[in-house]
Amino acid sequence: MSTQEPKERYCLGIESTADDFGVGISTFSGQILANISDCYVPAEGGIHPREAARHHACVAEIVLKEAFTQSGIKPKDLSLIAFSQGPGLGPCLRTGATVARALASYLGVPLVGVNHSVGHIEIGKLQTGAKDPLTLYVSGGNTLVTAFSFGRYRVFGETLDIALGNCLDVFGREVGLKHKKGVPLGAAVEQLAQRGKELVLLPYVVKGMDLSLSGLLTAAVTLFQKGECTLEDLCYSLQETAFSMVTEITERALAHTEKKELLLTGGVAANKRLQAMLKSVADEHNATFNSVPLKFATDNGAMIAWTGILAFTHGLVTPVERSFVRLRWRVDKVDVPWMK
Ligand code: AMP
Ligand code: MG
Repeated sequence: MSTQEPKERYCLGIESTADDFGVGISTFSGQILANISDCYVPAEGGIHPREAARHHACVAEIVLKEAFTQSGIKPKDLSLIAFSQGPGLGPCLRTGATVARALASYLGVPLVGVNHSVGHIEIGKLQTGAKDPLTLYVSGGNTLVTAFSFGRYRVFGETLDIALGNCLDVFGREVGLKHKKGVPLGAAVEQLAQRGKELVLLPYVVKGMDLSLSGLLTAAVTLFQKGECTLEDLCYSLQETAFSMVTEITERALAHTEKKELLLTGGVAANKRLQAMLKSVADEHNATFNSVPLKFATDNGAMIAWTGILAFTHGLVTPVERSFVRLRWRVDKVDVPWMK
């Protein structure tokens, strides 16, 4: 009988749904060996999908090389390629999918398409140890409250218009803040909010379990243009109002589902004030509070690699002919056979 340990298997994950091009490498037992990203920063305005896709195509080779260097493994050691299949911006998704298909067919390994939102939930669980949480997923393109029930992550509440991160980003841009690499606009708003003192009245729109942020954004920008309050007070008030809205629907979902863990994930999870609000709600409901670590909050390849492993080891593969991207692939349309 051989006493040799079974050989470790590795998956490379590619994330390219929006402004980030990321490559992550994970072992099949959940050790993240590499997580490298390059963010497209528009010269002005918001994300231009074709420009972002061009960025991804330009940086793909270098990001891949860096990921292999960081991981210490070689392409031939890979057993699986995973990619973000949706939801997201078409040109960006297609660029990542093309790289993934090329790698999988060159290396002769299986390909698996991953739902981006499921990726944010799974990396949050892996990194915090949460097993079956109620999740608030807040990012540049998504805002939803979700929990596992009967085979899928069900949506308990969501935005009816723009995402929370997008609301902070557009506000930041409209008031003249600059998006720099490493300092997203949401983080710039957070820094100014810490110096705010006066709470300015802004529209608070919760409809049932859903919420709407576009009126709040317009009102905050209009108040800035009128010059009637300081930028610090406006950032503070925007955060307090928007975060109270997401916290309210999260609390109701927690009370309804009686989950014992609350998970905060997605780029906006980096925000300390939002973390504090959610922690107080979790405490009141005797649930543990879990916030995804900063380096896995924003879109990243590691979450795709890890979710690809979960899918593949539960029988899911995506043949190349079915690897078309899915721009509006909702989280509640995805079977998650690895959850019981
Ligand atoms: P993602 O879409 O997951 O890549 O996350 C990017 C979003 O997270 C952008 O809207 C950022 O402005 C936002 N974000 C990043 N850091 C912070 C922060 N500290 N506070 C609020 N929002 C943030
Ligand atoms: Mg992003």
